[in-house]
Amino acid sequence: MRFAGMDLDGYIEKSRFKETIYVARPTMPSKEEYQGYLSSIWETLWLTNEAYWHQKFTEELKKFLEVPELVLFCNGTIALLIALKILNIEEGEVITTPFTFSATPHVVCWNGLKPVFCDIQRDSYNLDPNCVEKAITPKTRAIFPVHVYGIPCDVEAFERLSKKYSIPVVYDAAHTFGCKYRGKPLCGYGDISVLSFHATKLFTTAEGGALVCHTAEQARTAYYMKNFGIADEETVVGVGINGKMTELSSAFGLALLPKVPEEINRRQNLYKLYCEQLKDCHGIQTVSVPKDCEWNYAYFPIEVDREVYGLSRDELFQRLRRCNVIVRKYFYPLCNRIPYYAERKDIPKLPTPVADEVAQRILCLPMYGNLPYEYVIKICELIKTFPEWTNT
Ligand SMILES: *Cc1c(COP(=O)(O)O)cnc(C)c1O
Repeated sequence: MRFAGMDLDGYIEKSRFKETIYVARPTMPSKEEYQGYLSSIWETLWLTNEAYWHQKFTEELKKFLEVPELVLFCNGTIALLIALKILNIEEGEVITTPFTFSATPHVVCWNGLKPVFCDIQRDSYNLDPNCVEKAITPKTRAIFPVHVYGIPCDVEAFERLSKKYSIPVVYDAAHTFGCKYRGKPLCGYGDISVLSFHATKLFTTAEGGALVCHTAEQARTAYYMKNFGIADEETVVGVGINGKMTELSSAFGLALLPKVPEEINRRQNLYKLYCEQLKDCHGIQTVSVPKDCEWNYAYFPIEVDREVYGLSRDELFQRLRRCNVIVRKYFYPLCNRIPYYAERKDIPKLPTPVADEVAQRILCLPMYGNLPYEYVIKICELIKTFPEWTNT
């Protein structure tokens, strides 16, 4: 397409969305159905403390996700905090990825442990098991990978490392709701996995999260720990915290759960449309569906190759934002480049060249079930047209 005589400002003025297009929007349960749940809460006057809807939601989630043990939380971060806490590690290092949301290393520090950032794999964006093995020292207490964008980590390799060095593996599985790997729920791998139900995630309870584990004993400890360490009226078993999910959130989740397959299906269609629209756009690379995986299509990341595309990721970011498309640089800056972590002298600093490169190129485009197909086409049209003006 040629735009003779039109400058970039003119093009953006003509082409921008009139409304704001966010990178994510929550899927909502049916209002009527949720109101039904609310009515019962108004009758019982039970708002929290693992009451009826909390129990029911726990059972339904276990069935839906096909996991043996699951404990609900007020959010994913507190669930991650407890996941590390119940491993009973007093001090030492936890190996994790820099290419993640900052909550991942934060919970390591909240537990008095040191995050050691290792590099990622170029194709999966996930923690590289080879780098991890090289970083293991006598101080290493856990491996803490993240399934970024719901793309499975090399779970087999981490299992081998876990056995070989007798170190537990805890997965930040915040992005994996509904994902399966080799026929098994992705959030069922490792010693413990944690899901997030934040409003920006594929499945939400406004705020919320869940800890998934394999033994009833770990589940019980997690259960106590999210309730101040209280085992019964007169017994406190440890330093707990308040991490309980409310009845309002539990009911929200229950009402929303049946809509998840449709949500994933819709996102899959959007994914295909994006890929189709961008396949001939040189310098813009989309992500393939991971191998052996039933994916959830939770995010739509692209990589921008400045040399080929003609614009940098940041230039594309700015132009899309000017067009009212609120794209996000998930995950830039890398966690090991956040000043707090970069400046902590007591944390080993390993080179992360792959993560550094990816963080300069990655951009997440809008992805949510209710995103209209026409919007995807228009967003891709913008992306394909912007390089007409490379030097403004
Ligand atoms: C969202 C997210 C979290 C935190 O979950 P909250 O429920 O918002 O506390 C942790 N890790 C990753 C990778 C996330 O994307």
